[in-house]
Amino acid sequence: MASKCLLKGGTIATCVQGSTTPQVYKADVLIEGNAITRIAEDISPQAGVEVIDCTDKWITPGFVDTHRHLFMTVLRGNQCDWLLSEYMVKMAWYDALWRGTMEMHKEFLAYARSIPVSIITAHIVKGPQILQWRDGGILGADVVFSHCNVLADRPALDDEMWAALKESGAAIASTPEDELGMAHGNPVALDALQRGVKCGLGVDATSINSGDIFTQMRFALQWARGHDHERIHLNKETPPFHNKYSSADAFRLGTLGGAEALGLSNLIGTVEVGKRADLVVFDASSVNLAGAADPITGVVFHAASEDVETVFVDGEIVKRGGKLVHEWAPVARELKKRADEVRERWPEDKLEERWQKWYDTNGAPIF
Ligand SMILES: [Zn+2]
Repeated sequence: MASKCLLKGGTIATCVQGSTTPQVYKADVLIEGNAITRIAEDISPQAGVEVIDCTDKWITPGFVDTHRHLFMTVLRGNQCDWLLSEYMVKMAWYDALWRGTMEMHKEFLAYARSIPVSIITAHIVKGPQILQWRDGGILGADVVFSHCNVLADRPALDDEMWAALKESGAAIASTPEDELGMAHGNPVALDALQRGVKCGLGVDATSINSGDIFTQMRFALQWARGHDHERIHLNKETPPFHNKYSSADAFRLGTLGGAEALGLSNLIGTVEVGKRADLVVFDASSVNLAGAADPITGVVFHAASEDVETVFVDGEIVKRGGKLVHEWAPVARELKKRADEVRERWPEDKLEERWQKWYDTNGAPIF
């Protein structure tokens, strides 16, 4: 734990609560324990404070991943070409999907809330659960639905499914990268932001995609833009003056939006005094970023993990000088071993056989 640390001379890029426009400004950031205790133009370092020179660095909030199948890291590379239907059958999860009745959902949620848990999460692709849970009286601000592609098919501004989310305070964890590739349907993150429905981004299955929020911000934003451009073209509407969705929108989804979705916006998601020190320091002189003046567009469109120089998680430095603080090699060895074991137990031809049998008997499952 870094007990006291001063980030000196950096440029802060952050959303602020209650505003839709991110702020970019130069200031020093004082971290004491796990909290940001002061942000000011020129903070003099006291004795015992570690000073990190942030000249020509960007400081952003830590990015918030609202939905990640971390355990699937052992399956990386195996599933990148799969459809969602194929995935559910090959992973033997399809049967489990339809076992829950509404009574079971009610019982399960009542139990979860009695523990209590802070977040209840469920997957929705094209299903009707949002309205079912609303009608069953169990939809609440502690619910995070991943994907929610069904909402992309409901563009009406007064749509009741969108309204159910907004009124209950339930949130969406949008995972655009694999939703687009696996036939979930279309991502709804930018729509949710415009409608004022709580929404963050997530990586989802780490076996299938990039694993980072940079990529999710780009997929979410560019897909929404492309979809909007296509609609304008097909409807022969007057071309707009500007893009409907901005880099700032994507930045918000990747930071404060995610924190709001998980009910953690009082702790993380912005660089503000009183928040936990969850921070990312980018090297703005890197190959990717040296030509970029604005950290918001720079991070959303140009940055990659190699530009991340220092990372604080809850006040602890986990990456410093571009290197992970904890030794990675033993973790990598264990990961490779486990990945080999899984591949040996479930070779692709065995999985393909299972899917073929299912497809020939039932056709592709619809979600
Ligand atoms: Zn998932």
